[in-house]
Amino acid sequence: AARRALVAELIRDVPDFPKPGVVFKDITPLLASAQGFRAAVTELVATAPERIDVVVGMEARGFVFAAPVALELGAGFVPVRKPGKLPGEVISHSFELEYGFETLTMHRDAIRPGARVLVVDDVLATGGTVGATAALLKEMGAELVHVSVVMELGFLGGHARLAELGIDNCTALV
Ligand code: 5GP
Repeated sequence: AARRALVAELIRDVPDFPKPGVVFKDITPLLASAQGFRAAVTELVATAPERIDVVVGMEARGFVFAAPVALELGAGFVPVRKPGKLPGEVISHSFELEYGFETLTMHRDAIRPGARVLVVDDVLATGGTVGATAALLKEMGAELVHVSVVMELGFLGGHARLAELGIDNCTALV
């Protein structure tokens, strides 16, 4: 509980970013704090179910949390990226985002069918990003075991949207 309180304390509200009326949750003070960053990674690791094969992180802030979580769990790390970034053959999924439209891609052969996957991101807002990632994992035949995020913006209804998609295993630290 003390670790999660520290995490909450180190996330800064930035009004009117990236556009007027939006209050952006800035995680850079959390990352800049050795104690805070460690607390976030420790707590994310604690939310992970047993036997995770692969941790999937979303570009770009998701990478920063997903990679150390993968190392701690003894799992691999696989990136979800914006179009045009991955060099190999990709699968893609498009969706509506809080700030417009977005497409996400993964290497088609990144994860073997049946692999147990933990998805890690910094912020759950509308749930579009996690939903698209879940669709990509489904296409690969991977098993989405759990979703762990540092912060959830409850008023945007991400949890409900994920529940509609059949994803009811999502934990937010804050
Ligand atoms: P969603 O797809 O759930 O609407 O939005 C979540 C994605 O957008 C995450 O990948 C997250 O990095 C980014 N995002 C949306 N709002 C915020 C915010 O206020 N702060 C941060 N750090 N990321 C956000």
